[in-house]
Amino acid sequence: MSVTETTAPMRADKTWDIVVIGSGAGGATLAQRLASTGKSILMLERGEHLPVEPENWSPREVFLRHRYKADEHWRDRKGRKFQPNIHYWVGGNTIFYGAALYRFRKRDFEETVHHGGAISPKWPIRYEDLANYYTEAEALWNVHGQRGCDSTDDADAPPYTHPPMTHDPEIKALKGRLTLQGLHPFEMPIAAERNDADIPASRCVRCRTCGGFACFREAKSDGRKMVARALRSGNVELVTGAKVLRIETAPGGKSVSAVVYESPEGEQRVKGDIIVLAAGAINSAAVLLRSANADHPTGLANGSDQVGRNYMFHTASASLSFAWPKIETDFPKTMAINDFYWGDPDGKFPYPMGHIQGLEYLSGDVIRGQLSQTMPSWLIPGAFASFMGDRILAFLVMTEDLPEARNRVRLDPDGTIRLDYWYNNLKAHDRLIRRFHDAMKKAGRTCRCLRANRQQMDSILPIYGTAHQCGTLRMGDDPATSVVDANCKAHELDNLYVADTSVFVSSAAVNPALTCIANSLRVADHIAARMGVASPRVAA
Ligand SMILES: Cc1cc2nc3c(=O)[nH]c(=O)nc-3n(C[C@H](O)[C@H](O)[C@H](O)COP(=O)(O)OP(=O)(O)OC[C@H]3O[C@@H](n4cnc5c(N)ncnc54)[C@H](O)[C@@H]3O)c2cc1C
Ligand code: SF4
Repeated sequence: MSVTETTAPMRADKTWDIVVIGSGAGGATLAQRLASTGKSILMLERGEHLPVEPENWSPREVFLRHRYKADEHWRDRKGRKFQPNIHYWVGGNTIFYGAALYRFRKRDFEETVHHGGAISPKWPIRYEDLANYYTEAEALWNVHGQRGCDSTDDADAPPYTHPPMTHDPEIKALKGRLTLQGLHPFEMPIAAERNDADIPASRCVRCRTCGGFACFREAKSDGRKMVARALRSGNVELVTGAKVLRIETAPGGKSVSAVVYESPEGEQRVKGDIIVLAAGAINSAAVLLRSANADHPTGLANGSDQVGRNYMFHTASASLSFAWPKIETDFPKTMAINDFYWGDPDGKFPYPMGHIQGLEYLSGDVIRGQLSQTMPSWLIPGAFASFMGDRILAFLVMTEDLPEARNRVRLDPDGTIRLDYWYNNLKAHDRLIRRFHDAMKKAGRTCRCLRANRQQMDSILPIYGTAHQCGTLRMGDDPATSVVDANCKAHELDNLYVADTSVFVSSAAVNPALTCIANSLRVADHIAARMGVASPRVAA
């Protein structure tokens, strides 16, 4: 456990105004927002500070040796063990994320009928309730983008404060060929400290090791920066190495009173007037389930048996496109396509299909590491993997997965997390892949020598791909079908809030972090108002 301002016994004697569990996108953003209110805030984070070391950028260390991944195993619905793609560090999963920070579309907050009549439910809040928070979140997290280039995005939103990341020549050429087909590829919103106007001074160097890696130059906008902002206020304290075991309720069971966490010195207990759970969608549900007591025998906030249900993580495939000539790109993750977001433009499939975005450069060791989830890495010769890496452009093809009660986080009798999941919305996903491949093939015809031998390989993201986890403590007006209300306060507890991706009602088909961040700012404002203090707007 790291040195903190108060010792464990001192912390135990004190009642904090706010205790925040988790320091990722949601928790850290909320804490820095509330920090300026002057209220005393304690952040409990199970991870430590990530060492800033050359290995941050080592594909071998990161993808083959899993140096930074949580050494933890969960079980799938058949009881098979798997290692989730999850990271426990100060700053949470954002340290390793791809920094693609998208708003959800306006319609994503409405009820939408998908193929086969499946429903993506309406949120209890509208896009308009988040719009200003999205704008603040984009400024706070340094998003580079270009408003108006994505026709499904909010046309009325103010311009980004930073220009879009430029395309490498290979991507620019591909964008041109796709545009000639009538598609509208656009500039991805990326959160990093990049300065194209003064490249020598730019902290971000557009390296080949961004998404999946921690940024050795600390140029990626991640939760660490939010934690640092919070700590600068002087009234926020962070305890690292503090794995929360359970939340306790006050006599009568109507409110929460204390948090119990594991530390090298044994179990510790801290008291808080307000407790905010932001441990990530799977762990937040697990904490509530582990907090069962006499007043809440099936877990906290679980009177209607909703805790852990409606787990989503996107139906996603990595589409790898191969060509014989070497690909000249370091940072290919700058282009995305939303032409199929709400349906096929050919009119034959009037249901949402999803989103396509460029992925990071794939080095040989990254390929070996990814494949090692299904086969031993020694079966894949390094030279062959490197040869492929130099010739592959990777894309993430992502379709909304729909919330289902049976898709859920549970605890096995030994306390291990069990993730029940059945894939859905596969027709839309298959069609999206097919249409993307057709477009890529057509793009190949415009550049015959490069694309003659292009092929695509896809595989649906398996259960261990928990990166986009969400939906397990759903927000809603009806306690029978949701866990928290529209302010993200637990229906059944007066002072327990949730501020991570758990509260998502639907997964939409774009990356989740910006919606999590914007919503945390909104929840922070609600908490501040409840406490009778103002939480100032974010200064960019
Ligand atoms: C490889 C990768 C790439 C990604 N790329 C993108 C992207 O490009 N764009 C995007 O929008 N999203 C991306 N994501 C997803 C994004 O990182 C998450 O949506 C976001 O971090 C969710 O924020 P959160 O606050 O819900 O959870 P997290 O950021 O995961 O934070 C949860 C925190 O709680 C801590 N914690 C967990 N359990 C406990 C406990 N019991 N006690 C105390 N602390 C606990 C964890 O250590 C962690 O710090 C990616 C994720 C990964 C893994
Ligand atoms: S330097 Fe830029 S591209 Fe490289 S990891 Fe950092 S933010 Fe990503």
